[in-house]
Amino acid sequence: MNTQQLLATARRVMTPNYAPGSFILQRGEGSWAWDAEGKRYLDFSSGIGVNALGHAHPEVVEAITQQAARLCHTSNQFHHAGYIQLCQRLTELSFGEQVFLTNSGTEAMEAALKLSRRYFFRRGEERPRFIATHGSFHGRTLGAVSVTGQPTYHEGFGPLLQSVTFVPYGDVDALREALDPTVAAVILEPIQGNSGVRPAPEGYLPQVAAACASTGTLLIFDEIQTGVARTGRWFSHQHHGVTPQLMTCAKALGGGLPLGALVTTAEVGSAFTLGSHGSTFGGNPVACAAGLATLHIIERDGLVERAQQLGELFLGRLREVAARHPAITEVRGRGLMIGVELKVAAKEARARCTQEGLLVTAAGEKVLRLLPPLNTNQEEIEQAVAMLERAITSAG
Ligand SMILES: *Cc1c(COP(=O)(O)O)cnc(C)c1O
Repeated sequence: MNTQQLLATARRVMTPNYAPGSFILQRGEGSWAWDAEGKRYLDFSSGIGVNALGHAHPEVVEAITQQAARLCHTSNQFHHAGYIQLCQRLTELSFGEQVFLTNSGTEAMEAALKLSRRYFFRRGEERPRFIATHGSFHGRTLGAVSVTGQPTYHEGFGPLLQSVTFVPYGDVDALREALDPTVAAVILEPIQGNSGVRPAPEGYLPQVAAACASTGTLLIFDEIQTGVARTGRWFSHQHHGVTPQLMTCAKALGGGLPLGALVTTAEVGSAFTLGSHGSTFGGNPVACAAGLATLHIIERDGLVERAQQLGELFLGRLREVAARHPAITEVRGRGLMIGVELKVAAKEARARCTQEGLLVTAAGEKVLRLLPPLNTNQEEIEQAVAMLERAITSAG
């Protein structure tokens, strides 16, 4: 089938909840991707931050193919080395002592919510409630969407979890007001991604942690998008000198394969007793091999520091563009997680970027989100800035 035939078929056979551009991506290499017509794109969407090392990194490809040829799947009924090693690696890189592996971010979130409730159940405490923030995004399952603070994602799916209170992001007083000893957990992204790349205000995360400690409430950081070196630390909360009891990660973790993790302390993790939770595919050997290779390369090649440095360069260049173009109202972010807020609709600007040959995502109504591969370079960043500026100029 050619592109037109595929697009016509897509309209017929795909549920209409996505709106991808009118081209078919066919292959990629590093920061670049090509469509079926041979057009080349600089891919600074990275599959929403998943392709941390760009497309088809040779060592990740090698790890995947070797593992696939050895052992593709075991289920959780049998050990395989990759699961154990990946859990160990995540504990070395974070506050965590125990890890549960999943296939996606939303499943890691679901596990975090369930484990929080179960932790208090095991202690004989009644703690059904959760507090989350307006503008948050935590995933699409009924539990994860229930703590997602964006009404459009709720419409028509109720009744959702009834025991969730939403407070404004960044407002610690509102959080203190809502907190009491019936709250199992507070759930936060260190930078809100989906609703428009909104970093936590300075001091907010430590204040939240202190408030949680005062009621014995667990703190869950959703690092699904911000984690795995994206913001210039292994995990973004590490910028803030604060530790949660639970953390979710996914996206970049699998280096392109479906992989998520719930990272927690031994005290909290031990509430998942034998048989109480599980996943058939979670921590699949091939996904774990890709994840271990990805973490190894990020560390070996110094990509955590590089994300920090390239992020500063990128933010600086974008702010120069913003100074020339009143259509840009703000440039913000940390490391290689960057939002460009516009006066015009982000979807139109994104389409113009695509025409220029730059793939980005829209976050919220008015924000273009840039999540380049962590192993991009200065030259690609300069190219992206030039394409973005042309796209903004043509958007008027
Ligand atoms: C992407 C994302 C999720 C959901 O992850 P999926 O893998 O799509 O299920 C949850 N939280 C945040 C912050 C995300 O960016």
